[in-house]
Amino acid sequence: MNTALSQISSSPADSSPPSERQSVLSFSRAELAAHLETSLGLKPYRADQIFKWFYQQLVFDPSLMTNIGKADRELLGALLDFGTFDFTDRQISKDGTRKYLFTVKNDMQVESVMIKQPSRMTLCVSSQVGCALGCKFCQTGTMGLTRHLGTEEILKQVMGVLLDAKNFDDSFSNIVFMGMGEPLHNFDNVTRAISILTDPHGLALSRRKITVSTVGLVPAIKRFFEENVQATLAVSLNGTSDDVRSEIMPINKKYPISVLLDTLRSVPLRNREHITLEYVMLRGVNDTPEDLERLPKLIRGIPCKVNLIPYNDNAGLGFSSPDPKVPHHWQKKLNEKGITATIRWSKGQDIDAACGQLVTQSTRKRK
Ligand code: SF4
Repeated sequence: MNTALSQISSSPADSSPPSERQSVLSFSRAELAAHLETSLGLKPYRADQIFKWFYQQLVFDPSLMTNIGKADRELLGALLDFGTFDFTDRQISKDGTRKYLFTVKNDMQVESVMIKQPSRMTLCVSSQVGCALGCKFCQTGTMGLTRHLGTEEILKQVMGVLLDAKNFDDSFSNIVFMGMGEPLHNFDNVTRAISILTDPHGLALSRRKITVSTVGLVPAIKRFFEENVQATLAVSLNGTSDDVRSEIMPINKKYPISVLLDTLRSVPLRNREHITLEYVMLRGVNDTPEDLERLPKLIRGIPCKVNLIPYNDNAGLGFSSPDPKVPHHWQKKLNEKGITATIRWSKGQDIDAACGQLVTQSTRKRK
């Protein structure tokens, strides 16, 4: 395991002192019910009511939760932090993509991106401040890991963007954990956030609308399926030989390609479900004809589709975008072999919101 990774536990990062009011965002519905019962002697259905007001009606003032008795509403206001979800900054790309900067505990900052696509908006959220995995083509990787985000800090991004979307008369239909950080390294907080996003009393998103993207932390991938996390999985492959993949993604030394892909072959997928294999294309590094030759053989037997992601060469990390013809050629060749392949051209490059470009301003200035 990466040294930094091994030093950091995956326990919840929410370490608020017990005397502080805890954010509603930090609780699953079952946890909130237990907290209300222990602290105030309230019945579990109060948690259902609070969730509906909060996530579905977008009412954040307990005094307005009119199906709860007045005395209980006052107690709730004293017990829980119903919060504000303001962002610190917002930039809008010429392609309509919006990048948000959120300030979280201890004055730290993370970024979220609302990606405009022809038929939908996708919200990309961060799961950590920085990242321990150090992929060589990724700006976030240059920050190192500062800490995991708590569940409430992940959901603050979702709620903040959801409220701001009203100003643009749009909303997101999908959420992807592809912002700053490796989400499966912060397993507990990310999966608690997913349980709230998919809770029928919460945001009630379908599991198909949520994607968790990992570089391939094999034990966490197994746990993801064992615990039946209500999201789909995307895995960044980004190489067809261990030499190249280890060079650009140090995690490959711990979990080489064969171990990773054998794991993906063995996980229980539902009917018609697939894993997305992401492939960031780096000119002359992993986009060679030999790579294209090897890729279909490597992934044989995995119910998957391949998402080709031409790299943004303005990230300043010494890699270049592929020749624009190459992703199209790969897509055609993979399709001919019966493999569904899509190309994801980057959005929001002019505001540094594209894939691999997320790094907070304070870090950017230091660099
Ligand atoms: S690509 Fe993902 S896992 Fe790798 S350094 Fe960047 S944020 Fe971390």
